[in-house]
Amino acid sequence: MKREAAVDGEVTRKPRLLSMVIPCYNEEEVIHETMRRLGDFCAQLTDLDIELIFVDDGSRDRTRSILKEYANRDARIRVIGFARNFGHQIAVTAGIDAAHGDAIVLIDADLQDPPEVVHQMIEKWREGYDVVYGTRTERPGESRFKLSTARAFYRLLNRLSNVPIPLDTGDFRLMSRNVADALRSMPERDRFVRGMVSWVGFRQIALPYKRAERFAGTSKYPLRKMIRFATDGILSFSTKPLQLAVGLGMAAASLALAGIVYALFLRIFTSIWVEGWTALMIAVLFLGGVQLICVGILGEYIGRIYNEVKNRPLYVVDEYLGFEVDMPHMSR
Ligand code: UDP
Ligand code: MG
Repeated sequence: MKREAAVDGEVTRKPRLLSMVIPCYNEEEVIHETMRRLGDFCAQLTDLDIELIFVDDGSRDRTRSILKEYANRDARIRVIGFARNFGHQIAVTAGIDAAHGDAIVLIDADLQDPPEVVHQMIEKWREGYDVVYGTRTERPGESRFKLSTARAFYRLLNRLSNVPIPLDTGDFRLMSRNVADALRSMPERDRFVRGMVSWVGFRQIALPYKRAERFAGTSKYPLRKMIRFATDGILSFSTKPLQLAVGLGMAAASLALAGIVYALFLRIFTSIWVEGWTALMIAVLFLGGVQLICVGILGEYIGRIYNEVKNRPLYVVDEYLGFEVDMPHMSR
């Protein structure tokens, strides 16, 4: 805890700083309302200083200029403007990199995560927890497809991953400075933030909350991004797909061996060995399919290794606004 020597020699406690990280991508329709709700939230926070870090993830609408207007008027608002769209997880990472708070809250711009819940998170943090993650009890207003795929994804991920990753939990969470520092020391390029936070450890606790509907606008996670996100989650937290590939290969090889014995048997002991075209086709196609799947899985991992060794910065920042210190324009 930061302490400052007061003039009269007594030690006074400087209020602790809470950083809120809000990734925004084409959110011009919701920003004003988000600001209003966050403003109300801040007004109720009497014993904490606050900084609001908006990360504009290369929006193509007026999001950036709206954010800048707010930042010019309010010293608590800071803006990180990316040079292009780098994706939600990278935007969150940039926010964590830039945050100075004793505690850091990740929250979506579309008000699906109610800011009021953060009060309860802060309480838990004061009780000594390092991570307070919001678990969704209800998700109204989402398509049945999104609900069922999300449900299946969290369960599959948990089964495959070596680190237990909480079910039905998004990035809406509070983390302590220690956890943020640990995250900042993890250089991986394929970032699956909620999994990384689980991996870090410390004292973590779930906080059930009712996820609201998006205030306005549409989801910025189309199916393509959802699939990429899910693949990142599974491949960066599990090598089980590789074991699965080995298993599939072994099963196929055993079947093939049985086929070979059978074919030889027919050839040596019977006269019907010209027949069996169907069996031949099945064997060829089956083996071909299994091999392609396994090569594909290998390829996914190799692609990720390639991505890591290139060692490019995680993101490129076009501009910072409202920060008191000079910030680097590229990550690490
Ligand atoms: N977002 C982002 N970059 C992207 C996609 C989304 O920064 O490429 C932000 C978006 O503005 C929002 C949050 O990430 O604040 C969650 O996105 P969204 O609400 O569209 O996802 P959903 O809630 O539908 O899963
Ligand atoms: Mg949303």
